Formats: sequence, C-alpha cells, structure tokens
Amino acid sequence: MATVTDVKTCTVTACAYNNQGCTAEAVTITDSGCATFIELDARGGLPSASAHVGACQRADCKFNQDLLCTASAITVGDSEACLSYQAR
Ligand code: SF4
Repeated sequence: MATVTDVKTCTVTACAYNNQGCTAEAVTITDSGCATFIELDARGGLPSASAHVGACQRADCKFNQDLLCTASAITVGDSEACLSYQAR
C-alpha cells in the first residue's frame, strides 16, 4: 500500500518552488539531491507549501520501497539533499 510522504521542510531558498517551503506538487529525489530544484527569475508552484515525494531513486535508503519513499515526511536541505536519508 502506497504512502504519501510530505516534504516537511525545505531550506533551499534559491529554488523557484520555495515559498516558505516546497510548493511543487511532488518532487523527485536522486543521489545528487532534489531533481525538482531549479533556479529561475520567476517563482512557481502551489499557493502554499504542501509538496510530496513523487519518486525517489535512492534505493539504498531504508525508507525506499520500489523506488518510492515510505517515510511520513522528509526534510530537504544543504545542496538539495534529502536529509532524512538513512542507509539500510
Ligand atoms: S527518506 Fe530515503 S527514500 Fe525517502 S526521499 Fe529521502 S532518500 Fe528517498
């Protein structure tokens, strides 16, 4: 049964989706960080921060199941990395 993982906190304020948190509908996490991160002159996304993890490629994380995240919520921080990652 799939769970929905909230992006509880994102401190990457340079991202065009960051408006007191992540306002993308969903983000993709990779080994090199959040793949949804983008720096633009414009700001975009939902009216408020309520993003979810749509996909995660970090198969070596203990929360990763079938390339989806099963944690209840994650934090994205320095270098757009998922700070909630835990090695298996
Ligand atoms: S907690 Fe693990 S499975 Fe969930 S998004 Fe972060 S790295 Fe991926």
